[in-house]
Amino acid sequence: MNYLRQFPEIEQETIKCMKCGNCQAVCPLYKETGAEGTVARGKIKLTEAVLEGKLDYTQRLAKIFETCLQCKACAAACPCGVQPDKIVLAARAKLAQERGLPPVKKLIFKVLSNPGLFKTGLALGARTQGLFFKQREDGQSARVPISGIVLRRVLPKLAAPSFLNRVPENNPVPDARMTVAFFSGCTTNFAYPDVGKAILEIMKHNKINVIVPKAQHCCGLPVLVHGDVDTATEMAKSHVDLFSKYQVDAIITVCGTCGESFQKNYAELLKDDPEYSQKAQKLAKKTYDFAQFLVDVVGLNHSKLGPVEATVTYHIPCHIGRSMNAAEQQLQIIRSIPGIKFNSLKQPDRCCGGAGSFSLTHYDLSYAILKHKLDDIQSTGADYVITGCGSCRMQLNDGIAQEKMSQKVLHTAELLAQSYRNAQ
Ligand code: SF4
Ligand code: SF4
Repeated sequence: MNYLRQFPEIEQETIKCMKCGNCQAVCPLYKETGAEGTVARGKIKLTEAVLEGKLDYTQRLAKIFETCLQCKACAAACPCGVQPDKIVLAARAKLAQERGLPPVKKLIFKVLSNPGLFKTGLALGARTQGLFFKQREDGQSARVPISGIVLRRVLPKLAAPSFLNRVPENNPVPDARMTVAFFSGCTTNFAYPDVGKAILEIMKHNKINVIVPKAQHCCGLPVLVHGDVDTATEMAKSHVDLFSKYQVDAIITVCGTCGESFQKNYAELLKDDPEYSQKAQKLAKKTYDFAQFLVDVVGLNHSKLGPVEATVTYHIPCHIGRSMNAAEQQLQIIRSIPGIKFNSLKQPDRCCGGAGSFSLTHYDLSYAILKHKLDDIQSTGADYVITGCGSCRMQLNDGIAQEKMSQKVLHTAELLAQSYRNAQ
């Protein structure tokens, strides 16, 4: 990602844009705001002005570039093959370099990049969450506005203990046909440990050993998207070192953002590093979303699946669909489960508005985007919303709670594990 360090190199991307405006039709932010600064074309024009020296690195410019979900809908719809999400990342990196990161972000990224500190902090948070958050059946909401969290927002409870502290590092099975290393990601580790448990069950049914490297930590994408390229690079190196130690057939992930980091971003960030470049590329080739791995590598054995009597729909996480290309495999798994009645969303790949910390920093705008997804879900008559990403799940859960809807949100892996259990 040279353009992240050498901002002028992003011109190779901006010059492809013919300003046709096709991206307006698909950008979830533009649909809410109608403001040219929120859509890809507007951001590209601003980038060109910066490159020509006509614009300064002002606070206003930083705010405009903060307003992007990184959903890649614009890139998928662009007739010229422009990747506006990369242009936004480059601009954010340059803005961080020129203006410096705010002290709060610096502190958060320092904690995220220090696995010991991060894990200790969240373990402490899990023990004391009742003090700061009102507990409810479907999650918790803040008693006071902590780090700008809107009081009505419903967040998941922190898992105590975390997924990584619940399971052994080595999970062998008799007569194993393959071995994988599992990257759980922060949402599975700290909020939805049942997803990790489901992965271990699924792999056991398929006679696959699972290694859960205990020293894994945040994938680094939250740091990268805020422009802290150096910290993101250090986090990438740490995971490349860690996961290269294991002799495994594949690395599997359960979140589009984490999967994208291993499949694409680490190799990009480290491509000019003589020590890490090849190692990162090797890991990238071995990384799969769990559904890709099951369908494309292992082969889904339909005869082992038990019935799950439920009406479900599926939300495609942006990074599962547009970055990892794993949505088809997730849908194949869901549709292959006996008893499932599948009612598709009208717009399954429309962004839910979560986009990591965007839903914290821009709650109202994020919620306006989510509302379209909630209406779509309601119209399907589904009892369960299945998705493949913890961050989307947090966003959907909040919306369902706010609108007093009845649907439950599950990860695709949890639905599949239930099917295996019902077969026994
Ligand atoms: S980014 Fe693509 S779709 Fe958007 S204005 Fe430029 S060429 Fe058109
Ligand atoms: S990545 Fe998504 S939110 Fe950002 S400009 Fe493109 S379509 Fe809009």
